[in-house]
Amino acid sequence: MKLRPLSHLALLASAIPVSVFADGAFYGDPPDAIHPWAIHDMNRAQPARVEPGTFSSQEQPGKPPSDAVVLFDGSEGAIANWEADKTPTVETKWVVKDGTLQCVPGSGYVRSKEEFSDCQLHIEWSAPSEVKGDSQGRGNSGIFLMGQVEVQVLDNYNNPTYADGFAGSVYGINPPMANPLQAPGAWQVYDIVFRRPLFKDGQQIDPGYLTVFVNGVLVQDHTPIDGGGGHRARSKPRPFPDQGPLKLQDHGNPVRYRNIWYRPLPKRALDGGDTSVMSPEATLAKRAEIAKTIREDAATKQGVDQMLRLMESLCYAPNEGAWNQVRQEAEAFGKMIADTPAEKIESKKGEIMRVHGALQYMTKFKLLPGDLSLVNQLATVIKVREWDKKK
Ligand code: MG
Repeated sequence: MKLRPLSHLALLASAIPVSVFADGAFYGDPPDAIHPWAIHDMNRAQPARVEPGTFSSQEQPGKPPSDAVVLFDGSEGAIANWEADKTPTVETKWVVKDGTLQCVPGSGYVRSKEEFSDCQLHIEWSAPSEVKGDSQGRGNSGIFLMGQVEVQVLDNYNNPTYADGFAGSVYGINPPMANPLQAPGAWQVYDIVFRRPLFKDGQQIDPGYLTVFVNGVLVQDHTPIDGGGGHRARSKPRPFPDQGPLKLQDHGNPVRYRNIWYRPLPKRALDGGDTSVMSPEATLAKRAEIAKTIREDAATKQGVDQMLRLMESLCYAPNEGAWNQVRQEAEAFGKMIADTPAEKIESKKGEIMRVHGALQYMTKFKLLPGDLSLVNQLATVIKVREWDKKK
């Protein structure tokens, strides 16, 4: 049987899941012990629509994507999203100037009022065009994810320093793979993917990772966070809080920032997220959830559509009620076919082929909980009519 290309199937998707039996056959390999979905599974949620943003130029910051949480958009009022990194809370002495958030040396770190965790972070910075100092003393600031781990901000344009303290380094942990900085005064663009460390029962189950692009050049590729780093000290693995603010460092240099936004990331499998590969326990639970949703959808349908949807639900999880209903409906369908006069059977071809395709799929992957006489009955009809021969 010729299946529709995937792009065509994707177009059919709507709020109500389209049966994976829509083409008369389940589309790909079924769910298994660690994969809750079939291959090309139409029960899987469609990707959320996001209107893309625009890229920044030196003159103009770009526009964030539609689902971004904007922390600094250049407006005067945007300072309200930030506070001094002090407890109890006090106003920050950092200032908004010419559409930028500027460090006033001596005023201390600034932190976002917003707290978050795993994210895609976009942030742009500019070191003073008048070069002062060298090594760690020139255009130094820093981006602290959750306030815990620093992606270094430093004017390293013709400015050597220790590699694990370079611009784009995970400070004290890993140097950047390259130095793609522009000259001081220019806007430097950081795009960061952050995953916090995960602990369970006091044991680290995921070290957390940072991926960093500097001016579009990959400088950190899924670098393990390894405790969070620090100055002169090797850090040890430690749990982070569930959420934390973004902190920007005052290192005594008037570094400017603009266009700061993030997008929260879905949870990893280890963190209880729905991913392609999950633990056997999480897979079973997810499969049961998908099966229930399909059964609920089946209840809104009738006839063959209902039977196919119930059969589909059995590919995810056993359910006695669904199986009993399938058996009854399969029996009724078989009787209807048997009672159809030979000259009218052609009008049932579409339905017969769909049900046959589904039954073949379920038989192939041993997904039928019991025997159905319909399997052989339909196979015989199709063979006699030569519907299985390519024309
Ligand atoms: Mg720093």
